[in-house]
Amino acid sequence: MNTQDEIKRRRTFAIISHPDAGKTTLTEKLLLYGGAILSAGTVKGRKNSKHAVSDWMEIERQRGISVTSSVMQFEYDNYCINILDTPGHQDFSEDTYRTLMAADSAVMVIDASKGVEAQTKKLFKVCLLRHIPVFTFINKMDRAAMNPFALLEHIEKELGISTYAMNWPIGSGKDFKGVYERDHKQILCFAGGQHGQREVEKVAGDIQDEKFRSLLGDDFYEQLMEDVELLDIASTVFEADKVQNGRLTPVFFGSALTNFGVEPFLSHFLAMTTSPLSRYAGDVEIEPTDDHFSAFVFKIQANMNKAHRDRIAFLRICSGKFEKGMEVTHVQANRKIKLAQPQQFMADNREIVETAYAGDVIGVFDPGIFAIGDTLCTGKPFAFDKIPTFAPEHFARVQQKDTMKRKQFLKGITQIAQEGAIQVFQEINIGMEEIIVGGVGVLQFDVLEQRLKSEYNVDIKLDLLPFQCVRWIENEEIDPNALNLTSESKRVKDLKGRNLIIFANNWGIKWALEQNQGLILTDIGTVE
Ligand code: GDP
Repeated sequence: MNTQDEIKRRRTFAIISHPDAGKTTLTEKLLLYGGAILSAGTVKGRKNSKHAVSDWMEIERQRGISVTSSVMQFEYDNYCINILDTPGHQDFSEDTYRTLMAADSAVMVIDASKGVEAQTKKLFKVCLLRHIPVFTFINKMDRAAMNPFALLEHIEKELGISTYAMNWPIGSGKDFKGVYERDHKQILCFAGGQHGQREVEKVAGDIQDEKFRSLLGDDFYEQLMEDVELLDIASTVFEADKVQNGRLTPVFFGSALTNFGVEPFLSHFLAMTTSPLSRYAGDVEIEPTDDHFSAFVFKIQANMNKAHRDRIAFLRICSGKFEKGMEVTHVQANRKIKLAQPQQFMADNREIVETAYAGDVIGVFDPGIFAIGDTLCTGKPFAFDKIPTFAPEHFARVQQKDTMKRKQFLKGITQIAQEGAIQVFQEINIGMEEIIVGGVGVLQFDVLEQRLKSEYNVDIKLDLLPFQCVRWIENEEIDPNALNLTSESKRVKDLKGRNLIIFANNWGIKWALEQNQGLILTDIGTVE
């Protein structure tokens, strides 16, 4: 297959959900249908614990949440699929945002009995920032579920997005029998699947086919006919361009646990979602089919493999073809490098990758040279648009408990900051003694504490500080000490030496701007 065709068959998407809605289970079932695993249950391993392929870190195991984003590749129906997993917890929404930078669309998993939950809302907002298509999978139809019409209305109201039901559930709970596919006017009636370990069997046919009356039972058949009639009258028109920019979400019903509706979702989704999208370097559009290779770093993950203590930079390939051992320009460092040990992440292991194409994600060994947002390319060097960071809303002062371990402490905290897992500030005037960390959520501090202990053998003391916002000082000529600020504000520097102010609240920001003529404050930083 030539490079152009390879690129066109790629589908790279992220899955988002409120914890427990079924993201991990759905991912696993997509792998099952893709033939990447033979029997479900192997990815997750232990049914009652929350280990998945993506659960790399100790803290994930302890807390039962997925902290890091992982990547998995598999094939289905001649598509080459890259699934990017995202953390369900809002405290890691910045990580989700970076993952979405690498994705071309998103799948939102919703629990049919609970509807849109708190984190669904937060994560959906992050999706909106990217204007990418969002597809909805309403999961757990094998349990007591909300009425499907009510669910659609609820999603529209809660998220402010139009919905279009691609298929319709037949029954729910123990009576979830199948789905009706609106495009082909086809009923898919499911059976078997060994409680979700294997692919389900299905009987497919036209809705008018009388055999379904007996297969489904009179009541369910009548109900479906009624629903379909109502749907055709009441539902919004399907507009592909609205799907493309994330204003209309195609909705699918199913059960990831029993596999009912998983394959219809997968095949429709793959046909509807986009092949790799262009990325931008200022005004210049970098198309996936450009001849030159280009990629950007969207995630750095340290110590994925305890035995090796390695650090992996995840690259989203944006254009061209990658070949093992190829020499590329690392634009931000202004030098040529050979990409060592490129890896791809399959269902349950990682493999050295020989070739990869635009749309794919590869992990490369990082000896500490990469930062989030860095560009790698062949040909004339250029830099992709930077990945914005979220301004932290929580702050804490950290100190290492053992003063002898200062060096390890600084190394650890700097490396973790470079990964974008936390932001590090230092108080002006006091020097490196006072280190303040900032995060979008407090769980990031737990991760910091845990990682410093397990990876750098450093115990820390962490005191939460009563600040809520941070602003970078745009005017380089201004001496922060000369600024007139409220006593509840703190002057700090980031790792790049840029001046910032942390404030107790928005009122403090307003005050600073009023009292200091010409002061320009911004809340967008970039990970560097
Ligand atoms: P995540 O936190 O979103 O990744 O959710 P998981 O995939 O780990 O699922 C959370 C729980 O819901 C697990 O106990 C799953 O077995 C269960 N679950 C997932 N999908 C379904 C489903 O379709 N039906 C039912 N009944 N349970 C499900």
